[in-house]
Amino acid sequence: MKLEKSIELYTKGKKNLVGAVNSPVRAFKSVGGVPIFIDKAKGSKIYDVDGNEYVDMVLSYGPMILGHRNSVVEKTIKKYLKRGYTFGASTKGEIILAKMVCDVFPGMDKVRFVNSGTEAVLSAIRLARAYTGKNKIIKFAGCYHGHSDSLLVAAGSGLATLSIPGSKGVPDEAVKNTLIAEFNNIKSVERHLKKDDVAAIIIEPIAGNMGVIQPSSKFIKELNELAKANDVLLIADEVMTGFRSKFGGAQELLGFQADITCLGKVVGGGFPVGAYGARNEIMEMVAPLGDMYQAGTLSGNPIAMACGIATLKELKKQDPYSDFEKTAAFLEREMKTAAKENGVDLQVNRFGSMINPFFTKTRVVDFKTAQTSDTDKFKTFFWKMMENGVFLPPSQFESWFLATAMTKRDIYKVRSAIQVAMKAVA
Ligand code: PLP
Repeated sequence: MKLEKSIELYTKGKKNLVGAVNSPVRAFKSVGGVPIFIDKAKGSKIYDVDGNEYVDMVLSYGPMILGHRNSVVEKTIKKYLKRGYTFGASTKGEIILAKMVCDVFPGMDKVRFVNSGTEAVLSAIRLARAYTGKNKIIKFAGCYHGHSDSLLVAAGSGLATLSIPGSKGVPDEAVKNTLIAEFNNIKSVERHLKKDDVAAIIIEPIAGNMGVIQPSSKFIKELNELAKANDVLLIADEVMTGFRSKFGGAQELLGFQADITCLGKVVGGGFPVGAYGARNEIMEMVAPLGDMYQAGTLSGNPIAMACGIATLKELKKQDPYSDFEKTAAFLEREMKTAAKENGVDLQVNRFGSMINPFFTKTRVVDFKTAQTSDTDKFKTFFWKMMENGVFLPPSQFESWFLATAMTKRDIYKVRSAIQVAMKAVA
């Protein structure tokens, strides 16, 4: 595989960028070798600076659900670029996107746009504390909610990929109110709820940051009931799953309604947008209506809003969710068949358009079982997939994504790569 130009950029980049990247998973540390540098992308394909072409199953870790440079979206962005980039005052686009989001999530009367998923979640936590007057937060081991101090505990993919338990620089006081429960284990939540002072339970309703882990419907039902019975707010972190699992996110797919919902990724269509929203009585705590302060110079950026609106309109029109389901089921079957033929222990977890394999005999239902996967095998698998033209997240603990731009031919290419890669793993 030709990577000379990526190696050159990596060597240059290391001088002034930490590890030559601006987000750790891009460094390919856990899979070894040099990270690829991207030249361009179009539709389902991404091209590195050495001219290698890949079917893109990273999709910028989720936002590019339509694939790259969708023509309708691009036309809209170009139109809005001509009007200016940012104003420090409101625009009509913010109102349009807010209505689109609130119409889809029944638990949201109002929404506040921010610039990233991290910001959305840290603001949601502050809001839950402001509303309930309580301080403690229950989070699940292996769920990632961005890199704010209080949530960098047992935080899944990024840290697990680098084999670090938490982040240095986070003071004990910042995490003393964070309680850790086990995904799919309602008793572990009940135990924490015996303490008073719990403001909220935050969950990735379909976990995507310890690899894909699907909640049992019993677990989700009981979690909702427990939150209500204990006057604790349920925060659905749908930064990854919003508009991706279904148009109405994991909440539509799983049939529940959170008190506060966090969004990111798809809602900006590739531009930096995050959002948090809830019913009126909760959102009215936020400044300027209430005393919970949260602000942003670039929040609700007009180009990002235009991109988000065009992406959601196009997504709604294409309604790809049942096709995603069929494609993911096909890939699951192909991976399992290839594993069986080569005597490889394999679990495939998927939900909606999120899917990934674990190299283990153990059924993967939580962070502990996810970590039984043989990451050396993943490493071999990853590079064989890359060599055969499929760009995967360079981590065992990240989901692969589907895009509407993917054709049958792309999926057959992925299947062929899987067959070669599984042989190499054996
Ligand atoms: N929440 C979830 C579920 C995520 O997957 C992520 C990012 O991967 C975040 C929050 C943080 O979002 P961002 O990287 O935009 O800050």
